Amino acid sequence: MTRLSATIVGGGIFGLWQAYELARRGHDVTLYEAMSEAETGGASRFAGAMLAPYCEAEGAEPIVQELGVRGLALWRKAVPQIVMNGSLVVAASRDQGELARFARMTEGHRAIDGSTLGELEPELGGRFGRALWYPDEGHMEPRLVLAFLTGEIRRLGGTLHFGSAVPAPIWRAGSDGGVVIDCRGLAAREDLPTLRGVRGEMAVLRSREVKLTRPIRLLHPRFALYVVPWSDNRYMIGATVIEREDAGPVTVRSALDLLGTAYALHPGFGEAEILELSAGVRPAFPDNVPRIVAKGRRLLVNGAFRHGYLLAPVMAEIAATYLETGAAHPILDVD
Ligand SMILES: Cc1cc2nc3c(=O)[nH]c(=O)nc-3n(C[C@H](O)[C@H](O)[C@H](O)COP(=O)(O)OP(=O)(O)OC[C@H]3O[C@@H](n4cnc5c(N)ncnc54)[C@H](O)[C@@H]3O)c2cc1C
Repeated sequence: MTRLSATIVGGGIFGLWQAYELARRGHDVTLYEAMSEAETGGASRFAGAMLAPYCEAEGAEPIVQELGVRGLALWRKAVPQIVMNGSLVVAASRDQGELARFARMTEGHRAIDGSTLGELEPELGGRFGRALWYPDEGHMEPRLVLAFLTGEIRRLGGTLHFGSAVPAPIWRAGSDGGVVIDCRGLAAREDLPTLRGVRGEMAVLRSREVKLTRPIRLLHPRFALYVVPWSDNRYMIGATVIEREDAGPVTVRSALDLLGTAYALHPGFGEAEILELSAGVRPAFPDNVPRIVAKGRRLLVNGAFRHGYLLAPVMAEIAATYLETGAAHPILDVD
């Protein structure tokens, strides 16, 4: 097999996985990220990060679940930080119709009653009479995983340049005869005219009272928000889905929705500390399915929408296999 020389542009979850996958296949890898190492990842800094191929199918094209199951398997092989506790979906008693709809729209779950819910999450058993249990889903802490992948790329001999946007003429041309993989997220919009940004707001809370061990979605007719347990008694509350491209401060309405969801799920969050309220902008194509666009020696890997963590490993696998063998794939467009 020919050893490739690959330049990756962008150190979000897509770029880091591209670099990691190629480095572990024995290729030469250099990654450029505009931000510092501590701040790397645009949207990727603000994710959950739930690995939820079945729950996400509720609002996604079928291929997202198909790729997501593969993505989750690749994560589990590569990264020890993945927590495989499954996930839960609950609704207030007045919103049971939402729970029934969610069950119809998704696979991979069991309908459970309040006492089984109490065995899984003792603090929720008395609060919700019914739930959906997705045992084969996982989650992780995104900023730890970005750092883990960065370390792995270095360990495998890759070169990382942080705080360093690549001068346009170099990477556009792939002028050293190598390949260029463009993972700039929304910044690649100039080259991908149908790409748009979808704002997502989130909160990070710290609570010593609340003890939850897996992602929990609380359904509501107006929005569906969730809580993801992180380390050190911290919980990520996410995420709004707003058709806007600014990453400016979180609005009062969104903060009320996020914090209200946490409180409705578990009143113990009433005493939690608010550590962070942030917004990220997810890159998305019109159908919210990611794509790899091959333009000669340059690949553009983009459009992760709500599924960047879930799908990053499988996008990297498809791109690396294409570069090595020319193999086609339904999400790969050769320009
Ligand atoms: C609130 C929220 C919650 C989410 N929750 C989940 C979840 O639970 N599960 C899940 O799977 N997904 C989730 N997502 C979606 C996921 O975060 C995104 O799909 C993913 O982060 C997109 O990754 P990316 O690498 O394509 O883009 P980005 O993370 O935006 O990374 C692009 C990188 O390119 C860099 N860059 C741009 N221009 C240049 C340049 N010229 N030179 C060098 N570098 C450049 C940027 O600095 C940035 O670091 C969530 C998103 C948000 C906002």
